[in-house]
Amino acid sequence: MIPADSVPVAGPVVFFTGAGISVGAGLPTYRGTGGLYQDASVEPPNAEDVTPERLPSLWARFQPRLRTRDELVPSAAHLAIADLERHSPKPVTIITQNVDGLHSDAGSTRVIELHGTLRTMRCLIHQHSLPITDAHWHDHVPHCPVCGGICRPNVVLFGESLPGSAFGDAQVAIREAETIVAVGTSAVVYPAAFLIDAQHTASATCIWINPEDAPPNGHWTWLQGSADTQVARLRSL
Ligand SMILES: [Zn+2]
Repeated sequence: MIPADSVPVAGPVVFFTGAGISVGAGLPTYRGTGGLYQDASVEPPNAEDVTPERLPSLWARFQPRLRTRDELVPSAAHLAIADLERHSPKPVTIITQNVDGLHSDAGSTRVIELHGTLRTMRCLIHQHSLPITDAHWHDHVPHCPVCGGICRPNVVLFGESLPGSAFGDAQVAIREAETIVAVGTSAVVYPAAFLIDAQHTASATCIWINPEDAPPNGHWTWLQGSADTQVARLRSL
């Protein structure tokens, strides 16, 4: 039976997700209540941290978010989105600002990771991209098994540009979407503020899922509440 409070979504669907969707998986948001950056004295990791001298502290900054697949499992919201994809006759694409890899773990197949992923690292010498395996958890700075160079997390830091293919793919998906669902993002910073601005979302039905932050304009229907409770209400048409 379909619950009375369910919300129909017509495809193609784009989910635009931020840190709020991973709260149910136990990861704190960056800017929301209790977030990592609530303390204004803490500088976000940025491009200038990618030096041999500063890489140990950069890796240390990400240590709270480096988990094995056994330690970190998708939230109910991640799983609900993957389930929606399985039951949708039209494509369901996820554009995420998160680097935790949880959408793919949940079973979603069309995932655009705007800010890269903490599941891989990249050596500074030859740019080899390598999985971060358990062997590296306790290294201060992991080394590349191919060339021996030191590695950085494969994520986009403040001051670095987004991977061009991810950004282009995201724009195409948003342009073709009939429904856009923003989950757990305040969408006030680039690239979110650009990708889901009024112009890019004008022709789509727009749903905003967030417990605290109101949508940027009246074009969005606000389902106020946690990602886990609100994504569960969505039903594909
Ligand atoms: Zn290498």
